[in-house]
Amino acid sequence: AAPLAIVRAAGEAADLGIIMRTGEAFQTFGQVRTIVLDKTGTLTEGRPGVREIEALVDEGGMLATAAAAESSSEHPLARAIVDAATDRGLAVTDAESFESVTGFGVMARVAGRDVLVGRPGFLTERGVNLDQLAAAIDRLEAAGRTVVAVAADSEPLGVIALGDEIRADALEALAQMRGAGLDPVLVTGDNERAARHVAAQLGIEDVRAGVLPEGKAEIVRDLQADGTRVVMVGDGINDAPALMQADVGIAMGGGTDIAVESADIIVVRDDLRSVITARTISRSSYRRTR
Ligand code: ADP
Ligand code: MG
Repeated sequence: AAPLAIVRAAGEAADLGIIMRTGEAFQTFGQVRTIVLDKTGTLTEGRPGVREIEALVDEGGMLATAAAAESSSEHPLARAIVDAATDRGLAVTDAESFESVTGFGVMARVAGRDVLVGRPGFLTERGVNLDQLAAAIDRLEAAGRTVVAVAADSEPLGVIALGDEIRADALEALAQMRGAGLDPVLVTGDNERAARHVAAQLGIEDVRAGVLPEGKAEIVRDLQADGTRVVMVGDGINDAPALMQADVGIAMGGGTDIAVESADIIVVRDDLRSVITARTISRSSYRRTR
């Protein structure tokens, strides 16, 4: 490709808040047929809030314990839990030790107890019996909530239901993607029903939920198996492997550093419609180089 056309296009894109990090992405974007979209922070605002709590013990104590465990995590769910505790005037202490398990939750030592906060399966795999909370988990997931369970010393304490708003620009962005002949696929580590809740509002039929971070890259690889070119749009640590695997990886502006570093294109303005703007610029620059 003639470098000058690429340089001009990169400048044009930069003016619109789109950083093109590789020249290669310009050339492949026109051939892309499938667009894989992360849910949290990509289709949704990525600012979840606590909507409801079901506690088996004192609710404030449970929320304070969960917040202490999450206080060192940068995950949006963690921030929401800490904010909810602070809003209720609860004192959020530091955890004595903390470990984050990407795509699952956190393990922390809080006031001498081993605390787990994360997806229900993360707790049950570690020997926590959530039977008493099964009906609540079912009801909250059916309502499209992201459900996080909390336990201390293997005893279940309760569940926290979180909700996130769909981005204002998402519906129009999806219409533009379809208009450009791109088939959308939603991938998320969140539960199936929360994923379907978002997908239904945006008319996305292909939904892959409960996916682990390596699973997102595998899905991209599978979609590429028959030669299909794939673009992946994401914002989180858990999206990084898939962003690298995709023919074109796009990181949303508010994304984590590792997602940004793994991407070919960075959308600084944090507007999902920029994905199609980037495609339009790529295609016109590619035509100019031929
Ligand atoms: P997504 O793919 O939607 O961005 P993640 O892979 O980051 O989601 O997380 C998947 C699921 O793991 C979340 O829906 C949540 O249930 C759980 N989880 C991940 N990190 C945390 C955390 N810090 N605290 C509580 N739960 C978490
Ligand atoms: Mg995300």
